[in-house]
Amino acid sequence: MTEKVLLSVQDLKRHFDIGHGQTLKAVDGISFDIVKGETFGLVGESGCGKSTAGRTILGLYNRTDGKVLFEDKDVHEMSDKERTGYLKKMQMIFQDPYASLNPRSTVFEIIAEPMEIHKLYKKEELKSRVYELLEDVGLNRDHANRYPHEFSGGQRQRIGIARALALDPEFIIADEPISALDVSVQAQVVKLLQRLQKEKNLTYLFIAHDLSMVKYISDRIGVMYLGHMVELTTSNQLYEDPLHPYTQALLSAIPIPDPDIEESRERILLQGELPSPINPPSGCVFRTRCAHAMSICAEKKPVWKEQEPGHFVGCHLYN
Ligand code: SF4
Repeated sequence: MTEKVLLSVQDLKRHFDIGHGQTLKAVDGISFDIVKGETFGLVGESGCGKSTAGRTILGLYNRTDGKVLFEDKDVHEMSDKERTGYLKKMQMIFQDPYASLNPRSTVFEIIAEPMEIHKLYKKEELKSRVYELLEDVGLNRDHANRYPHEFSGGQRQRIGIARALALDPEFIIADEPISALDVSVQAQVVKLLQRLQKEKNLTYLFIAHDLSMVKYISDRIGVMYLGHMVELTTSNQLYEDPLHPYTQALLSAIPIPDPDIEESRERILLQGELPSPINPPSGCVFRTRCAHAMSICAEKKPVWKEQEPGHFVGCHLYN
């Protein structure tokens, strides 16, 4: 892994005005860098703001505040020409392979479309390129003339991946790319993404709601809760020594494939529901569900602090 920062997210906020003077703070000041060639996992419960963060990074949403720098260029300040170049280098794989592919288009048309929009190839070259992409993702040229409904969920996600690769991107945001798939198929898609990363020198932002599979694909992981980043470190460090009470709870929910250990292990049950991002708790946003909450947790927002090299946490237990 080289140490060149490809993407830098700096105190990024994305708020939505939802009327009646109310604001939904979907993303409320998150910061992290993604180094070229790495996989950065962004994890948290549904509603924590991770998908909004992904879409704001891609530029699909305007930012409310903060910056997203791609190769040192501000994504939200780019000229139209720069933006076209950026959108070629950056692609997205979506959660739902059923919904993200046009049911009326053939696989060939689905994969060829981005290359046609950018007028990259002549007719025969385009054909070869589509066949090549199908092979890259473990499908073959016989699949090109079929329609999405003729494929299984795993195969459809492979088609989505082939489309994302069509413009030869450097960076891919994978938004819950495996959560709609069966567990056995999840592992195959994760292996495919890992192989493609090596072959094509890709950088990934891998967004997911559960930590179990993210561990296997991510170099580093950021844990989000209610629009905030609460912990960030290497994948190994996060699993071996989680510091934030929310990370500890998420990890304790992962089943261990050994019946003896599984039976005796202690689970940390999160109390209550995820609070509304329209009216988040004062101080630490996790305090309403935290077993370690102290009076300072309601009064003061914890400082985002590097606890040990590369291991950041925002929690008063460590301030
Ligand atoms: Fe829990 Fe307080 Fe830490 Fe928040 S700051 S996670 S409430 S101990």
